[in-house]
Amino acid sequence: MADSNVMCGLVVHPKYLDYDLGDRHPFSPLRIQMVTELLTELGHKLKFETPEVVPPEKLEIIHDPEYIEVVEKAGKGIEAENFEQYGLGTADNPVKTGMAESARYIAGGTLHGAKLLLEGKFNKVLQFGGGFHHARKNLAAGFCLYNDLALAIKEMTLHGWHVAYLDIDVHHGDGVQELFYDDDKVMTISLHESGEFLFPGTGWIYESGKGMGRSLKLNLPLEPFTEGDSYIFVLEKLLDEALSYFKPDALIVQAGADPHFSDPLADLMLTTNDFEKIYKIILQKTDAYAKGKVMFTFGGGYSLVATARIWSLLYLVLTGSGIPDKLPVAWKQKWEERLGIKISDSFHDPNPSYNPIPRKEEITNHNKDMLRRLLDMVTPDWL
Ligand SMILES: [Zn+2]
Repeated sequence: MADSNVMCGLVVHPKYLDYDLGDRHPFSPLRIQMVTELLTELGHKLKFETPEVVPPEKLEIIHDPEYIEVVEKAGKGIEAENFEQYGLGTADNPVKTGMAESARYIAGGTLHGAKLLLEGKFNKVLQFGGGFHHARKNLAAGFCLYNDLALAIKEMTLHGWHVAYLDIDVHHGDGVQELFYDDDKVMTISLHESGEFLFPGTGWIYESGKGMGRSLKLNLPLEPFTEGDSYIFVLEKLLDEALSYFKPDALIVQAGADPHFSDPLADLMLTTNDFEKIYKIILQKTDAYAKGKVMFTFGGGYSLVATARIWSLLYLVLTGSGIPDKLPVAWKQKWEERLGIKISDSFHDPNPSYNPIPRKEEITNHNKDMLRRLLDMVTPDWL
């Protein structure tokens, strides 16, 4: 098993763990530790690439200089009157010492992953962090400070690459979409729980790009309680249509684990078996339409144990490794004690995982209809 990650670049830095927004904040750095320890306990020898920190001035390619200055000051504990104007000092984005530097290490990791793809060192990359898709040009939002994804995508387009960005986090990838809204080198695809019910309240099908980017920003708002079979049906159809048209040089995937049925912040119903299928579909479509090049980042995911299992699964699928039946006993015991919760023995979710969902047919038909309306709107521009 020692060489199972040879074909997949892994990126992480110890500084990622300093992106800690407080014990009661849902965005927990423990998730990175839990995934790393789970895979290690399963016998995988993880060989990580160590990224360099991104200096503040390099972020100006994505963010306003004034915004960067305020975030950096906040990260050093320097008070500023205008925090609120930049989305800082809120419940979602509290001001914590060290957060700005840590966010720059994480951005450095996603950028490093992009460089691994650009240089051809790896065709597949897994960044053990990042996915800060809500960060805007001059606004912190949804636990995100610096938009690591946009920084990586920008680097790739500056090398002349066309990039497709796929966002499977349960929340709309609003920041990335906005930063490339009129860019014809970037296609964004976001599947999320409808903004009618969930933060950030955007991601409607009519947000489809402007100018040179017209009809290249694709949003599929899904009904609450959407289950895996409906999700996978629309995902596969949308990827086939969009990627066979756009033919990107690489795919960047924000792989938030929060569409899981147990996630406390959202209402989709994916199981770990669904995630396994979804990852395999994304890899197939990468080979078919994106020159076999893909980077996955982490993202949301607020059920800690489910998220640790889901991102471990992502690693196992990316490296073509076997998927175990049981969680390692030592890992389970350690985290049961640490989190004060009971963890089930199995690696995958139990089957069935949850009680039957009422309105299943209605939800499935609604999602199909939304996909049809999206494609009817954008595909005439693709001819
Ligand atoms: Zn999310």
